[in-house]
Amino acid sequence: MRISDFGAPLMVAWQFTRECDLACLHCCTDSSPAGRMADELNLEESLRLAGEIAAAEVPYVLFGGGEPALAPHFFSVAETLGKAGVYLKVETNGQRFGAEAVARLARLPVRSIQVSLDGAGQESYGKLRPAASWDAAVAACRRIRDAGLPLEISFAPTRFNIGEAEAVMDLALELGAFRFNTGELMCLGRAARFWDSLEPTSQDYGQFLKLLERKTGELAGRLELCFQPFSLREAARAWLQEPSGTLMVRPDGKVPVAAALSFICADVRRDGLAGAWDSYREACASAEVGRAMAALICKDLPVIV
Ligand code: SF4
Repeated sequence: MRISDFGAPLMVAWQFTRECDLACLHCCTDSSPAGRMADELNLEESLRLAGEIAAAEVPYVLFGGGEPALAPHFFSVAETLGKAGVYLKVETNGQRFGAEAVARLARLPVRSIQVSLDGAGQESYGKLRPAASWDAAVAACRRIRDAGLPLEISFAPTRFNIGEAEAVMDLALELGAFRFNTGELMCLGRAARFWDSLEPTSQDYGQFLKLLERKTGELAGRLELCFQPFSLREAARAWLQEPSGTLMVRPDGKVPVAAALSFICADVRRDGLAGAWDSYREACASAEVGRAMAALICKDLPVIV
């Protein structure tokens, strides 16, 4: 099946806000406590988009950020989608993901809650996430599982924490996660500015990949390890074979063709979901975007077109 066969996205990846309670060194979206975009979709605009997603029978919406639950209208939008039968995934740093948030989400069709846990303890975790509490993130994981919600853990490898990957996988299993997501660190956003101090060596990555292959066998049937495509280069290669069926929406409603490209192909505020999906498919077929994707394979860096 190709994206031209689909009248609507297979998934909407909605970067709900740029605001975050943390300012992690490796953040690929440059989110921070001061990071709300000037023109983020408001409640009314977000509900309109949620209505269009439900009407188009998009099966699945992923909420990312920033920290999505910090936006005052997050739950109104999540509940609108959930009540319409749309499955949800929510990405969180877990710092303030308290009992009330968990209880509200537990009433909805939640496919998973993903908590970022990129350290086996406070030392490495706190280096990457200044002012963040590892205990709070772990407590959020337990709260999510205790509420019967499916838990995923994400791990961003850097030179500070890559040696702790196995311990975090084992912890993910103990916490009751069903999936562990990782891949090469992306040279985007704030991570690009701290790249020299963050980027693992190629030797580190080689050992990391061997570990992932070994643990895939060891943990089979208990914890799924997701690490393909591993790098932006591999993602670009896969995209050139067949563009993704996911429509990405930024907090201001702009639609990028892909996370690593600054090429904006639509605006849901102006075009609505259907218009944005048409523009996305048109952009995917353009030679200009194809060239930019091909350049990513060579550079592994964000490309401005
Ligand atoms: S990495 Fe996640 S938690 Fe950290 S600043 Fe970025 S969005 Fe916030």
